[in-house]
Amino acid sequence: MTEIKKHSKVFIETYGCQMNVSDSEVVLAILRKENYELCSSIEEADLVLINTCAIRDNAEQRILGRLDVFRLEKKKRPELIVGVLGCMAERLKETLLDNAVVNIVAGPDAYRDLPRLIEAVKVDSKQINTALSHEETYGDISPVRMDRNGVSAFISIMRGCNNVCS
Ligand code: SF4
Repeated sequence: MTEIKKHSKVFIETYGCQMNVSDSEVVLAILRKENYELCSSIEEADLVLINTCAIRDNAEQRILGRLDVFRLEKKKRPELIVGVLGCMAERLKETLLDNAVVNIVAGPDAYRDLPRLIEAVKVDSKQINTALSHEETYGDISPVRMDRNGVSAFISIMRGCNNVCS
């Protein structure tokens, strides 16, 4: 008898501009291929990803505050994996890994590597990929819309973050 594999659940929180909204939808598309489904609260999640902005509205302070909230959940469920994506991940790199709650730091051009990073966390709880690429556009990945149960998609409009985009 074929065993039906249970879906893992990912909660994705997005800050910043339209690029990050599009990127989160690319990330969801990548993770759905790995048997993840989107959930709507951190309490349900096996994996929490926060896609960050580095400049807007004291964005970094807000994100550090959110990490404190994730820390409380992780106290209850130490197996919860927490990843920081996006512009703050790119700007702060290893510094973010010093935060006890953070398992994964992935920059805007590293999202194809997320399945590997998630697997690697099971062996070593701190993983990072913030390599930048001039070629990465995710053009072959259809972003999965988060506001409609993931049934439709739109095309990513631009890429790249130079942190001068307020
Ligand atoms: S730092 Fe700029 S590109 Fe990055 S999320 Fe914020 S506004 Fe968007």
